[in-house]
Amino acid sequence: MKKINNQFEEFGGKYIPETLMPLINELEEKYFQLRNDKNFQSELNKLLIEYAGRPTPIYYAKNLTKKIGGAKIYLKREDLLHGGAHKINNTLGQALLAKKMNKNRVIAETGAGQHGIATAMACAILALESEIYMGRTDGARQKINLLKMKLLGSKIHLVNSGSQTLKDAINEAIKDWIKNVNNTYYLIGSVVGPHPYPTMVRDFQSIIGKEIKLQMYKKNKKHPDIAIACVGGGSNAIGTFYPLLNTNTELIGVEAGGRGLKTDDHAATLNRGSKGILHGMMTYILQDNDGQIKNTHSISAGLDYPGVGPEHAYLMNKKLAKYEIVNDDEAFNAFLLLSKTEGIMPALESAHAVAHAIKIASEMKKSRSIIITISGRGDKDIEIINKMLNYV
Ligand SMILES: *Cc1c(COP(=O)(O)O)cnc(C)c1O
Repeated sequence: MKKINNQFEEFGGKYIPETLMPLINELEEKYFQLRNDKNFQSELNKLLIEYAGRPTPIYYAKNLTKKIGGAKIYLKREDLLHGGAHKINNTLGQALLAKKMNKNRVIAETGAGQHGIATAMACAILALESEIYMGRTDGARQKINLLKMKLLGSKIHLVNSGSQTLKDAINEAIKDWIKNVNNTYYLIGSVVGPHPYPTMVRDFQSIIGKEIKLQMYKKNKKHPDIAIACVGGGSNAIGTFYPLLNTNTELIGVEAGGRGLKTDDHAATLNRGSKGILHGMMTYILQDNDGQIKNTHSISAGLDYPGVGPEHAYLMNKKLAKYEIVNDDEAFNAFLLLSKTEGIMPALESAHAVAHAIKIASEMKKSRSIIITISGRGDKDIEIINKMLNYV
């Protein structure tokens, strides 16, 4: 096989139709120009501080630490950002890039709606038009998010093809992009897709890890022993990991084990997938023997994706990061425990990272430290939680 020119050895690349190549190449050129442009960076920084609410605090979870009785557990509070999740770090970056490229129309796909909302917000503040593709089934499941996107000024396209979910929304967004090359920017929501998206989104999310590095060092005069983040597409995890790669911090990503790896109802792409091509990238994917994409499951919509960012595939194979599994019920219990001990309801995605920290902290010395990235807040998930508890 020919050696592909990309960032992550055999992973990543630009596995796209020829008609998209000029678009992707233009994006690549412009992004790498602006990446080191002082004006671009200071404009973005201003938005992150004044609009999104950065820097987010590090919180020492004293009660949880005491309860588990081992390593000190710290939380990186991305749940406190505008919109309630890390996604705004990326959408502000890419929307600003769209503006600099004179593309006044932004399109995006969304599954559960979180990326759609973050895109709508970033486009509103930068006075860009936004149009969001969403599968009709997803739209029906996530009515409130659909409403939020509309109120924030986005036009919504409900997609009727296929299973009427995320992958169908992606297909329609790509068709739109090919048709409207001149004025349209495609804003992808995680470290996935053809190069340069995985690198670009990683750069925008790396603010998480950069802050962790400074804040934890200030608190403890050393780096954290372990950093843990959940992995869907992998953007909050790579944002956490990347700045810590040159330290002695052990990096652990947590995949959704769903109803268990003995079943087919999970989204453990790195642990159970095989190499393949999806959405323009070479990475690990959950596929059958014919190369068809398998259905995935997770209690958390954000982790329910059959692929994973190519840089995680690379980090795993190089043994620079480890990827563990947490099942639905463990994430559910971690949600309840963090809510009760610290008064913080984590997103069910983030609860996967919390659950893994709980598993390992008790085995560690009290002098050691774990930082967990809380990628988002749990308000969006309380109906799912209530269904399981029957509280109200
Ligand atoms: C979307 C989302 C995720 C999963 O996306 P990554 O790209 O893997 O970070 C995780 N947590 C929350 C709160 C999300 O909204």
